[in-house]
Amino acid sequence: MHSNEQNSEPDRNQPVGLDIIIPMYNEEAVVDALMQTLLEVFSDSACRNSGIKSVHVIAVDDGSADATVPRLRAWMDRGVSMTILCLSRNFGQQNAFSAGMAHSRAQVCALMDADLQDPPALLLDMVRQWRAGQDIIYGRRMRRSAGLVKRMAYWSFYRIFNFLAEDKLPVDSGDFCLMDARALAAINSLPEVVRFPRGLRSWVGFRQAALPFDRPPRRSGSPKYTFRKLYNLAIDGFTSMSLRPLIAARIMAAVMAAGCALMLILMWGKRLLPGMLPDSNGGWTPLLLTVVLVALMAQLTGTYITGAYLSRAYIELKRRPPYIIARIFTSNDAAPDDNPQ
Ligand code: UDP
Ligand code: MG
Repeated sequence: MHSNEQNSEPDRNQPVGLDIIIPMYNEEAVVDALMQTLLEVFSDSACRNSGIKSVHVIAVDDGSADATVPRLRAWMDRGVSMTILCLSRNFGQQNAFSAGMAHSRAQVCALMDADLQDPPALLLDMVRQWRAGQDIIYGRRMRRSAGLVKRMAYWSFYRIFNFLAEDKLPVDSGDFCLMDARALAAINSLPEVVRFPRGLRSWVGFRQAALPFDRPPRRSGSPKYTFRKLYNLAIDGFTSMSLRPLIAARIMAAVMAAGCALMLILMWGKRLLPGMLPDSNGGWTPLLLTVVLVALMAQLTGTYITGAYLSRAYIELKRRPPYIIARIFTSNDAAPDDNPQ
């Protein structure tokens, strides 16, 4: 069991061990470029200058069916310090991150995508900011190289989210970040099964800073997020971070119910007054139809919102683990156990 008070204020002057957590789902096309880039960025001299005493990669294989794992193991055999967590099937990026986060033992850890859209060189800046006193440093995407529809979807997600959520999300921040063991322990201690890492990260507090960057295109391979997965991610975000949509549905239900009651009273009241009934030309029909359709729309929207919360609540209730690890490969040097939890 993790405890929030376990880790006291970290010593920011000593050289630190860094874990880099990377979820991978069928990323064989990018593994080599990724590892090459990591080796270049975290060269001996760069590490010395940044006060990084060791770098350990925690690659989480999220049920890949391609050669992702053999490619990773080849780099491990070549001496890269690495742990490969193989999940038993595809659990989704959020859960893959959670698996990696549960296995990090270094003083600081980073979360990044495999496709080099999160430039590893920025991690050095993040370590610098951590030394200057920040606890969590996250990348803020200024410009993205995605298609227009996807960019608009992302843009509106964060704005609608913050309009609706009690717990705000820093706009345009993804999962790319660096944090220390204390912040990580706090996130790991949160018990929910439906895990929205960037939301949990924002929720735990501590001193947080944004590092703006332009998001380059994926280096190679194809995007692994389908629209369905992105949509589910967005709904996971809403339901885990805010009750406001549910409250809005309740208010909407109350307003509509009152409206319908008023309409009924008017209708029957008028029926009681001869000559006030809608005429045979259907003077009232469009109005009535509008009312019925609006009420139906409100009802269905309410059902939709309640369904989204209910299904997540059901998943929480079942308490199934967010991921299952089938195999672990670890390089001989193993993860430096600087921060036993
Ligand atoms: N990913 C994963 N499981 C999934 C989908 C994606 O581990 O089910 C990983 C993927 O391998 C990559 C990261 O999540 O390292 C981001 O995926 P992608 O580049 O497709 O997302 P996008 O950049 O379009 O948001
Ligand atoms: Mg990507």
